[in-house]
Amino acid sequence: MPGEPAPAETADARTDAVGDRRRAWNRARDRLYPLVIETYGPTCWLCGIADATTTDHVVPLSAGGHPTALSNLRPSCRPCNSARQDTNAVTYRAKKQRRPATPRPSRNWFGT
Ligand SMILES: [Zn+2]
Repeated sequence: MPGEPAPAETADARTDAVGDRRRAWNRARDRLYPLVIETYGPTCWLCGIADATTTDHVVPLSAGGHPTALSNLRPSCRPCNSARQDTNAVTYRAKKQRRPATPRPSRNWFGT
């Protein structure tokens, strides 16, 4: 509509920034996964099962998290990685603990 204010530039800039981070991550994913497993072990940092086939971002890309810094990456199983999305890790673990998946992990629940 004529006369309406232009869409907020900040929203567009933020979307672009998330896209840039995602692209950077997609480029680096295959290279970084072995490093993450070597650094943190093959245990999912969210639920503790020893089946971390993916890499999760501690601070999500959408929240401004660094896409490729090892300090922002943790091993994660696929169900946790897709279920957590942008939830804070502590919140996610608490929610998961109330309604545990089977089989229940026997140790390292809090993924130190
Ligand atoms: Zn998990």
